[in-house]
Amino acid sequence: MPDQSAGASIEALEEILGADGVLTDAVDTAPFLTDHRRLYHGQALAVALPRSVEQISRLLAYCNERHVGVVPQGGNTGYCGGATPDESGREIVVSLQRLNHIRSVDSLNYSLVAEAGCILADVQRAADDAERFFPLSLGSEGTCQIGGNLSTNAGGTSVLRYGMMRDLVLGLEVVLADGRILSSLSALRKDNTGYDIKSLFLGAEGTLGVITAASIKLFPKVRSSATAFAAVSDVRAAIDLLARLREASGDRVSSFELIPRIGIDLTTRHIPGVTDPLGRPYSWYVLCELTSSRAADPLDDVIEEALASALEDGLVLDAALARSERERDALWKLRETIPEAQRLDGANLKHDISIAVSALPGFVERASRWVHENVLDGRLVAYGHVGDGNLHFNLNQAPGSDRNTFLAREAPLKRAIHDLVREFGGSFSAEHGIGRLKVGELERYASPVELDLMRAVKRAFDPNGVLNPGKVLSSAALRAGLTGSAEPACAVQRSP
Ligand SMILES: Cc1cc2nc3c(=O)[nH]c(=O)nc-3n(C[C@H](O)[C@H](O)[C@H](O)COP(=O)(O)OP(=O)(O)OC[C@H]3O[C@@H](n4cnc5c(N)ncnc54)[C@H](O)[C@@H]3O)c2cc1C
Repeated sequence: MPDQSAGASIEALEEILGADGVLTDAVDTAPFLTDHRRLYHGQALAVALPRSVEQISRLLAYCNERHVGVVPQGGNTGYCGGATPDESGREIVVSLQRLNHIRSVDSLNYSLVAEAGCILADVQRAADDAERFFPLSLGSEGTCQIGGNLSTNAGGTSVLRYGMMRDLVLGLEVVLADGRILSSLSALRKDNTGYDIKSLFLGAEGTLGVITAASIKLFPKVRSSATAFAAVSDVRAAIDLLARLREASGDRVSSFELIPRIGIDLTTRHIPGVTDPLGRPYSWYVLCELTSSRAADPLDDVIEEALASALEDGLVLDAALARSERERDALWKLRETIPEAQRLDGANLKHDISIAVSALPGFVERASRWVHENVLDGRLVAYGHVGDGNLHFNLNQAPGSDRNTFLAREAPLKRAIHDLVREFGGSFSAEHGIGRLKVGELERYASPVELDLMRAVKRAFDPNGVLNPGKVLSSAALRAGLTGSAEPACAVQRSP
């Protein structure tokens, strides 16, 4: 029997991964130990850079025997601290960055197989080179990896038309906690052979296995598009406009993003090159895009006609159509730099929520009123992928307010907003996952039955609790063999 208290040794890791596959120097490991939002700063025994599935398999078998925690990491762009090790210095970060090959492209099957460490933008390019289209699109696509996208079940700007990452997967290759390799890189669209095991790894945030490759769906290449930026009277008008556009275009709306006035104010102030597309200020805007695989589709006409009739009916107050790729890029830059502009403007609190599209206007009205009355040192920045019901209901510290006082109220503000989300039948985690940040929220809002089943799945896949400990489910609750809700709501814990 191996000595379970011995932890892992660097010599053993180097024997498995080669000397250049193990980082221990503080300067080399630093980028892997802090999350993108700088909420968490961890320590690690080492950062492993495996080159093959076999190396990951041997590494996991070794760590499992010694009960050493393993933290999978992709592009480290996640918003919930899921890829950051704890502060013990005993865990091992496993970066997938060297597993970055496109293994195969099957144009006629509309599918490709990519290794987990492929950057999302490279997968999009590989599809494009094969005259196909991979629709997952995020602001972080130049850095995030396909394994991270699978493990967070990423969403982004095209979910309305193509679904989330979960909907884009045909098969997976995964290394299990004990080192066994589950090789299920199916290219099949129909496959009813028992339980859908692969779906458990999607959105599991590295707590059930390390994904090493995926077979993903491709679509016909986009050959024409029309992009418009429209001021709308309110959120209800935005949702009505979405329905009209879906009907008028034959359901070819691929993106429909809501932007509040403050989104324009923040981006024009903080991001070089961003300008207000319309002549005068309005309260709410939408950025919408129609796409088609037919080069000659008159999408500009469709969007122009729909906007003109919405203008007549008072839903739309003003609009601008992108007349060139440069103008389209400028509109998307405005939308995609809102998170960065928020960061540059000061402290902010993020709430990645989803509500049924039809209930969104009522929610925004109630929640905005609540913020206005109760958060005097904060400003609401509510924007997002409303075409699929996902709103980033964020708060920024107001100008002149105290950063620490504002941030100190995170837990009660989060609680109030998430409670309201629940009242509207929504979710407190639409596309960013749970990670470490929302473990307490999951314990509060998931039903006892759901928590029971999640803990049972975790124990079945990872009996020694070595895979990304403390993420998604609390390690303490797992160890205590708890069923159902561990405790009433607990405050979000941050490392110093
Ligand atoms: C500017 C910006 C814009 C963003 N926009 C969006 C958006 O529109 N929609 C959206 O959904 N997200 C968005 N995100 C969040 C983030 O980019 C996504 O969550 C992304 O999917 C994370 O991928 P990653 O490779 O960076 O994963 P990481 O951050 O490295 O990891 C995320 C989680 O997945 C696990 N993991 C990573 N790789 C593997 C693997 N191979 N096997 C098992 N587990 C693994 C990690 O342990 C961790 O729990 C945005 C982030 C930024 C910075």
